Amino acid sequence: MTNCMFKRQPLTQLPLTESVVPYITDLTSGPPRCRRCRAYVNCHVQFVDGGRHWNCNLCGMTNAVEGEYFSTLDHTGQRRDIRDRRELRYGSVDFAASPEYYNRPAMHPAYMFAIDISSEAAQSGLLQASVDAVLSALEGLDDMAQRNNLLQVGLLTFDTHLQFYNLHKECEEDELPGVYVVPDIDDPFVPTPHCMAPLLLHRATIEKVLRALPEMYADAHVGEAAVGAALQVSFSPCDAVCDAVLQCVSQCVCWRCL
Ligand SMILES: [Zn+2]
Repeated sequence: MTNCMFKRQPLTQLPLTESVVPYITDLTSGPPRCRRCRAYVNCHVQFVDGGRHWNCNLCGMTNAVEGEYFSTLDHTGQRRDIRDRRELRYGSVDFAASPEYYNRPAMHPAYMFAIDISSEAAQSGLLQASVDAVLSALEGLDDMAQRNNLLQVGLLTFDTHLQFYNLHKECEEDELPGVYVVPDIDDPFVPTPHCMAPLLLHRATIEKVLRALPEMYADAHVGEAAVGAALQVSFSPCDAVCDAVLQCVSQCVCWRCL
């Protein structure tokens, strides 16, 4: 079962020769379940009593069909809405989770990218490679952003300080958004909620900042990178909960650094 706002696919990609597993999203209160063994309704249950009950194929329990799921049966005993009920026609289906399955309100997906801009990163080419990798990752998030316009992307850079960018700012062509510098890496904090922005709305600004980074820090002379501090703030930006943090680091990281 998957969250209806953000679908995760935990299993491997299907071969092209296999059909896509149907994704059932139209059951507002979730799939009917057996009141004794909690089995989901499936293609092997039997509807009886004119469609008012169904027999569980796992434990034999007879269950009432709730109002919105009711359908009359035809002369063969099959539900008349069988063509619209993929969960009754396919052996494998994926149900969208209804709110009763949440243990907290649904969160919006968020991804934080933390990029090393120390002199070693700039001179070794890692900074440019990091920017290219993040731009490529944004393309990979396109489909998800189209389905969920609140998908957020955050960006920070780090050497011995942390730098955050106002990704909400609408910039003129030759303008870049403001940079917020956090020098305290022993007790780092996020200085602006605008360091994260919905990808769909602010993609232009996010890409503009990314593309500008290699030139902005081409003459960097700070050789160290506050990897641990960057990682620490990456997981708690604003009120969002990050689904993933991608950190690009130019140096070996020891446990003490974290
Ligand atoms: Zn049962």
